[in-house]
Amino acid sequence: MKRSLLLNCNGEPLQFIDAARAIKLMLKGRVEVAFGLSGEPSFWDEIISSPTSGFRIPAVIRLKYFVNKRIHKKPPRFQKKVLFNRDSWMCQYCGIECCYSAITVDHVLPASRGGRTTWKNCVAACKRCNNNKGARTPEEAGMKLIKQPIEPSSLHYWDTSKSSSWHDDWVLFVKSN
Ligand SMILES: [Zn+2]
Repeated sequence: MKRSLLLNCNGEPLQFIDAARAIKLMLKGRVEVAFGLSGEPSFWDEIISSPTSGFRIPAVIRLKYFVNKRIHKKPPRFQKKVLFNRDSWMCQYCGIECCYSAITVDHVLPASRGGRTTWKNCVAACKRCNNNKGARTPEEAGMKLIKQPIEPSSLHYWDTSKSSSWHDDWVLFVKSN
């Protein structure tokens, strides 16, 4: 199902939500459809049908009121897929883009040496770099991380790297993978 990008009322991106939830928020009057690249309200071409009518799926919606993200903030549970989304499905050592079967989780401080499976100790790596690094730290292996691992944001729960799931208007608010 298509997703809608939900913005805070100040334009800050909050998360990708499924189309049915986006349309419910619209019907409740809590959001409005934001303007896209064309200067028109941002929609997908698809519609969702109910027994009585059809709704165009919005691509970007904006809350009419401000929500404080911190209220909902607790450290998200570690999930591989979210980690890969955070790292744009890109090896964090050589920068190669990896498909699902070629991507691995690398423990920056190796698990065999007490490195934990946490957002800040794990990065996406291709099999070659992961094997090459082995049970060494990046420094010991002479490898350099492209960026330091951080906790993911709620945007990383959705994989935007597939072109079929990416809406062009989203470049206005979040960076494309
Ligand atoms: Zn690599």
